[in-house]
Amino acid sequence: MAEPSRQLAALFAAHARVVAFTGAGVSTASGIPDFRSPVGVWTRYDPRDFTFAKYVADPAVRRRAWDMRREFWASEPLPNPAHTALARLEDAGRLLGVVTQNIDGLHQAAGSRRVVELHGTSRTVMCLGRSPRVGTPDGCGWTGPTQWAFEAVDMGVEDPRCPDCGGIVKSATVSFGQNLSVEVFEEAETLATSADLLVAIGSSLQVYPAAAIPLVARDAGATLVILNDEPTPLDDDADHVVRGRADEILPVAVAAVAEAG
Ligand code: NAD
Repeated sequence: MAEPSRQLAALFAAHARVVAFTGAGVSTASGIPDFRSPVGVWTRYDPRDFTFAKYVADPAVRRRAWDMRREFWASEPLPNPAHTALARLEDAGRLLGVVTQNIDGLHQAAGSRRVVELHGTSRTVMCLGRSPRVGTPDGCGWTGPTQWAFEAVDMGVEDPRCPDCGGIVKSATVSFGQNLSVEVFEEAETLATSADLLVAIGSSLQVYPAAAIPLVARDAGATLVILNDEPTPLDDDADHVVRGRADEILPVAVAAVAEAG
């Protein structure tokens, strides 16, 4: 077994309440680019063009956002061995859950049951209301599958509106300039403070408040491990840094722990 997997397997074996905190790097092996990838959707779209305020104010921004979403899903991404390994660790009774910044739903597709989506999901769309306050959705509660919006756009609807109240519709993700759900953040904190080992995987750990979750766990007494293919600003705060690819290291480490029982 290669050294990074051996290191992680030993940490999994020594802890009973593991929580994973994941970022875009967990999904790059599924073909979804992270912000650093040299090719892919983020080379054609700048996420800063889709701030909450711009989205609410401008139908042209909303139209372009639907194009971006469609491109995000065009490759029909599937879970990769990193997602599958985390689901297997939960099945083995050693992982309490996953707190993810990802919006792709691939942890659930891999079989993970307890997943806290800090930044929402791009698999569904939601009503924002007719004139939401800055940073806060104020809709009627309607939600639907993202495919609903794609079909509306395909039928020539420039700016799909909520079928119940006529409000603005947006993917159920947290955009730049949009507040995180207080309930969801509290759920993430609860999970983090329950952990005796928190593994931050495939995240540049630069997007706050999400990136505070690993520190919440550490401050509550958990061992903090960072698994990433490049340095992060929190490496000095971690008890262990495992350098390399999550989709290569995690499956081997989890298999070793699961097989040991
Ligand atoms: P990020 O793009 O800032 O950082 C990803 C990190 O993962 C980088 O340090 C990168 O070097 C590393 N990485 C890439 N592939 C890896 C691999 N195979 N193994 C190990 N490390 C790998 O992502 P972030 O920290 O999640 O923050 C970006 C924000 O953008 C998040 O809020 C997230 O919601 C959003 N986002 C989500 C997706 C998605 O849902 N898949 C994709 C892009 C961006």
